Amino acid sequence: MSGYQIAPLSRLIEQFERLPGIGYKSAERLAYHILSLSNEEVKKFSDAVLEAHEKIHTCKICCNLTDQEICPICSNEARNHSLICVVENPRDVIAMERTHEYNGTYHVLHGVISPLNGIGPDQLHIKELLGRVNKGSVQEVIMATNPTVEGEATAMYLSRLLKPLGVKVTRLAYGIPVGGDLEYADEVTLSRALEGRSEL
Ligand SMILES: [Zn+2]
Repeated sequence: MSGYQIAPLSRLIEQFERLPGIGYKSAERLAYHILSLSNEEVKKFSDAVLEAHEKIHTCKICCNLTDQEICPICSNEARNHSLICVVENPRDVIAMERTHEYNGTYHVLHGVISPLNGIGPDQLHIKELLGRVNKGSVQEVIMATNPTVEGEATAMYLSRLLKPLGVKVTRLAYGIPVGGDLEYADEVTLSRALEGRSEL
């Protein structure tokens, strides 16, 4: 960018470009779109950004995102509070809830252990999980981190911390995706599918 430059526009493009998955071209398109909006529309947009950022924080118990002190799942007495499903991020909770198959509670780590990206156990919400299990009423912790190298390593790390506390630690059985082809499944997927096999 040289010659003709509008500083406020450049700054707006720069901010969009910092968002995940947005390259320069998309950032530019979004910035021009903002310029084409009415004052009222832009205010609605920026208010929504500020409000979401101000009001949403982590639940004191499960660390999922909420605008309340305790999230609706943790405060729901109809759910099984002796069961905790550990997931990487809030979107995983939504995916699990969509199945309508699970009635326990969650614990959101907000990431996985990833030495390459400089993420160690201290940056995740592990202390809070240990605190919950230490209280004694939890019977089972289901590791539902993703079946990636980091997800597997995080599940192993957590199970080593949790088992001495006298709680049952299980892992989600991952398998061949529906519509998938055995031939194209990698070894980890196949061995997980085999481990998690159930009786027909
Ligand atoms: Zn909660």
